[in-house]
Amino acid sequence: MSVLLQAKDLAAHYGASQALFGVNLSVREGEVVALMGRNGMGKTTTVRTLCRIMRQSGGTIHFAGQDLSQVPSHRAARLGIGLVPEGRRCFPNLNVFENLVAAARINIWSQDWTMESVTALFPRLGERRNQSASSLSGGEQQMLAIGRALMTNPRFLILDEATEGLAPTVRAEIWDAIRQIKASGLSILVVDKSLKELMQIADHCVILERGASVWTGAPVDLGTDIRDRYLGV
Ligand code: ATP
Repeated sequence: MSVLLQAKDLAAHYGASQALFGVNLSVREGEVVALMGRNGMGKTTTVRTLCRIMRQSGGTIHFAGQDLSQVPSHRAARLGIGLVPEGRRCFPNLNVFENLVAAARINIWSQDWTMESVTALFPRLGERRNQSASSLSGGEQQMLAIGRALMTNPRFLILDEATEGLAPTVRAEIWDAIRQIKASGLSILVVDKSLKELMQIADHCVILERGASVWTGAPVDLGTDIRDRYLGV
């Protein structure tokens, strides 16, 4: 499998305050990578720099052979990076159908995701197609946020806390959808607090500690010593 995304020695600042001090991670084609670490360790900041919402202040990011250093966020989306941001943002005044249509894009590398395939993945979105996004439950809004990212037909999907704050049954539905998305062959970076599900789906884990990657390996190698030290579980 070839490397799709490679970040080396990433540094990032919020004003004068440094948040990332050297993040290294790579994602191969078709692979699911779990980005882990306790609260405030830099996961969302890493996601923001990968999507170009934030500029890195050091290091490099290569995606599909291209240097992303000077690429603004709208071009990152066009290059095939799909983000499901923390806080599941959708257009509240548009209905489900309009939210999905507004995101739609056909790319040379993928035409897999259409209104039909997204509503097959999340039947509830099909049932609620004429309802405004603001009237959906939290879980349905999360499904819509994932559906919107898929409608861009990305070649790399980033899920930042996609199951946060949801009831266990809804979380299970979202994990089931993520497994189906993985099975479609899409490369995924996933940030989540549910260690058990992450371990089941990830091919590879990267742990952040105070803005730097400190451990990389397969889920089977993530022993209790590493969990105790870096994840506090
Ligand atoms: P969480 O799981 O709590 O979301 P995280 O691992 O995603 O945590 P980040 O949100 O990336 O961590 O935060 C990394 C560091 O950057 C923290 O010290 C945080 O306080 C700081 N930080 C995050 N957002 C901002 C901001 N908008 N302005 C200033 N500092 C910020």
